[in-house]
Amino acid sequence: MEPINIRLFRKKARQTTRSLRYFLTRTQNSPPKNLDQISEEIDKEVWAETDCLSCANCCKNMSPTFKYPDLKRISAHFNMRIKDFKEKWLYFDKDEDEWMNVRRPCQFLDRKTNMCTIYEIRPEDCAGFPHLVKKSMKEYMHLHRQNIVHCPATYKWVEKLKERILLSKIVVKKIEFGVDK
Ligand code: SF4
Ligand code: SF4
Repeated sequence: MEPINIRLFRKKARQTTRSLRYFLTRTQNSPPKNLDQISEEIDKEVWAETDCLSCANCCKNMSPTFKYPDLKRISAHFNMRIKDFKEKWLYFDKDEDEWMNVRRPCQFLDRKTNMCTIYEIRPEDCAGFPHLVKKSMKEYMHLHRQNIVHCPATYKWVEKLKERILLSKIVVKKIEFGVDK
């Protein structure tokens, strides 16, 4: 598996983000019937090609949201009160209505290995990131529109989704016009 070159990724993302975001908006407004199934299939392909330990861009440049169960679990791990944990590491983002990290990179990232030092008890948001498989993928397109510039796995997933949807449209057109006959 090729390590991720984050500098090249950023360059590519800058050049193509607009059209991929446009594609995501169109998919949100007019999703194919089998969107959830395609998403799941593509998800497997993406993770077989993605080496997160060569990246960690999410932990370096984004913040997870900390819900109450996360706060309870993680502060207990450090033998801290939730209040003290919040004071030490977090701030309340009024726009998002969520507790977020003050520091970026995340204080729990080991910057030598790119590994999470609280992996087993990390926030649910981290465990689910980048949310490529969900029950109703249509509802998550807005999230991918944001994450596409930060997460190479999301970027790859969107590229593949675009290819798959275009391909299925071509097949449908060929059947309609009898090209394969
Ligand atoms: S808690 Fe762990 S997985 Fe989550 S952002 Fe921090 S280092 Fe990354
Ligand atoms: S989830 Fe995305 S941003 Fe995070 S390490 Fe993996 S590829 Fe990089």
